[in-house]
Amino acid sequence: MIINPVELQNKIRIKEKSRKAGAYFHYPFCPQKCPYCHFYSFSGGKEEQDAWLATIQEEISLLAGELAGLIEIDTVYFGGGTPSSLAPEEIELLLLSLKKNFSSDVKEVTLEFNPENPLEKLQDFKQAGINRLSLGAQSFSDKILESLGRLHSAGDIFESVSQARRAGLTNINLDLMIGLPGEEVSIFRANLQGIKAVQPEHLAVYMLEEIEEVPFKKNWEKNPVPEDDLATTYQKYQDSLWEMNYQQYEISNYARPGYFCQHNLKYWEYKPVVGFGPSAASHLGFVRWQNVPDLKLWSEAITNGQMHLAEYLILSPEAALKEKLMSGLRLAAGINWELIRQEFPKLDFRPYEARIHELTARGSLEKAGPNIRIKASQFLIANSILSELLF
Ligand code: SF4
Repeated sequence: MIINPVELQNKIRIKEKSRKAGAYFHYPFCPQKCPYCHFYSFSGGKEEQDAWLATIQEEISLLAGELAGLIEIDTVYFGGGTPSSLAPEEIELLLLSLKKNFSSDVKEVTLEFNPENPLEKLQDFKQAGINRLSLGAQSFSDKILESLGRLHSAGDIFESVSQARRAGLTNINLDLMIGLPGEEVSIFRANLQGIKAVQPEHLAVYMLEEIEEVPFKKNWEKNPVPEDDLATTYQKYQDSLWEMNYQQYEISNYARPGYFCQHNLKYWEYKPVVGFGPSAASHLGFVRWQNVPDLKLWSEAITNGQMHLAEYLILSPEAALKEKLMSGLRLAAGINWELIRQEFPKLDFRPYEARIHELTARGSLEKAGPNIRIKASQFLIANSILSELLF
């Protein structure tokens, strides 16, 4: 669907008291496709990469024309793809372009970095404005890394973190995948030893939830991991990371005190985020949209002053409430029920409250002061708890 940004602006009513918003850049290029990947990414040539860089700057000024008065950018996230393939000057250029077009007071700028990328760039990324590094580590086991088709070794992770520390980066996340076929106890130990050695401030420890039509699916189907094993693995990480002074603040995310990811919190707290680049998703007020996952279609529309969207939704209050509960209850702190009620004064909360009562009696939800939350012991079945609550 092709729309004019003016139409988008007309539909947005910001209710949030704060106008603070995140900006997300999707860089869709990777040197090689990982067999489990379902993100929009491919190995583009120089011409496509240059087109991306030119178009995304046009997209920033196009959207700013309609949205700049509504928001103030305070977090930026470069995701992908492999955005660490960008040159530091290109990162600087995009940050400058944001600053010129939107009012901003940026506190956190994250770059996803793959450990096989040249480490000498880290110093320049820091100087370009990056202050948080998210390392696509995935595992400290070379055997697992090989089965995932990754281009780096466990040794590269250690070197990346050392170099990042030397460059002065003091906020580092490691992405780790767990619950994979062939994951023995030795792999759990290797991961814990790796975490102890590099002491990241933040960890995203996640499981492959949906295996779509990707090459890794065959491996997954040949060696399915029993649900009980998944639950045991998940809990082992929960317990060990807690002992290592990491706070689990979301189903898959752990951080040392003061290091929650401010950008990702915007998704869970349902705060505004504007996405740039093909396939990037945005959410402002009661409107949600996603750019088409196609470099050519995305860039043709932007060049014509339009937006090519794969999804464009104007949410009813009921739908917005459901989305808000669905994302907010992923947080360990849960959601403040009274505030939610005040935000949607016209909705009938009785059916939700009856289900909350039931789920609390059953031990799936609990009250914590003014908040309602999923019990940490039930995180692994959060999806089924949420569907009982919401549908
Ligand atoms: S590096 Fe990330 S985005 Fe690129 S193919 Fe692998 S999983 Fe996908």
